[in-house]
Amino acid sequence: MNSGSTAKTILFWISIVFLGVMLWKLVSANKNPAQVVSFTDFLQSIDKKAIQIAEVYLEQNSANVHALVRDSQKYVETTISTSELPDITARLRDAGAKIEISEVKSRDWTLILLNAAPLVLLVGLCLFLMRQMQASLRRVGAALPAAVRTGIGYDLHRLEEGRALIVGGIELPFDKGPVGHSDGDVLAHAMCDALLGAAGLGDIGTHFPDTDPKWKGANSLLFLEHVRKLLDEKKFVIEHVDAVVITEKPKLGPHFPKMREALAKSLGVAAEKVHLKAKTNEGVDAIGREEAIAAHVVATVVSR
Ligand code: MG
Repeated sequence: MNSGSTAKTILFWISIVFLGVMLWKLVSANKNPAQVVSFTDFLQSIDKKAIQIAEVYLEQNSANVHALVRDSQKYVETTISTSELPDITARLRDAGAKIEISEVKSRDWTLILLNAAPLVLLVGLCLFLMRQMQASLRRVGAALPAAVRTGIGYDLHRLEEGRALIVGGIELPFDKGPVGHSDGDVLAHAMCDALLGAAGLGDIGTHFPDTDPKWKGANSLLFLEHVRKLLDEKKFVIEHVDAVVITEKPKLGPHFPKMREALAKSLGVAAEKVHLKAKTNEGVDAIGREEAIAAHVVATVVSR
């Protein structure tokens, strides 16, 4: 049994005990109910020395007298004004009655407390259960799987002789390189788009327009670092990126370890979360004629 169940059980049994005490008190009080009598009848009882014990409860402008009738288990009750109290108490003493004077009706206060106790307990129990429900809902919310989102990215650059071939942040030995405003890294660019798409943050052109001279010849790994910060601000964690780079030449496989390391470092993730694959285009189309290089990337992110 957990602490929450234990507390509820204890509270339940306390409530039962209080209810039982209240019922017992009510039943006990009704065994010898006081008979309300007029002031005149009460005076006659005093004169007949029929009052054995008189309990006087003082109120603001009056006093309530609860009296035990001599040689019986009967009680009578009446109300007198405060001004009449000295005379009444004197007559009671003369008649041999025992007098007890109280500022408040302690018996009434007891009943009030006993009557109020279950209500207080009920309110307390409701508040307690509400807090338990809220805590349960929070636990359920925490247990729910984080929102998983995916994004897709694609990029293609024409290849021209005399330009450096940068793929995944690594310069590869080749006689051609991509034409682009930045370093033309298709893999990094497609990865940026995939991540931005997963987070619903637009595309690479929105954040790094090719009309901005600031990005001329820029290292595209800087784009990835910026995208990582954008995702971090939106409370997204990069779970995985999977990429396909399509180029006829050169062979990319041998360079993948360095590419993964560079990309993962820019993204702030382990290299195991960056998966790379290479394809040729079987000599078909621009890529097959070594006129272009392209990349496809799927990114998976998780909201924190
Ligand atoms: Mg591009």
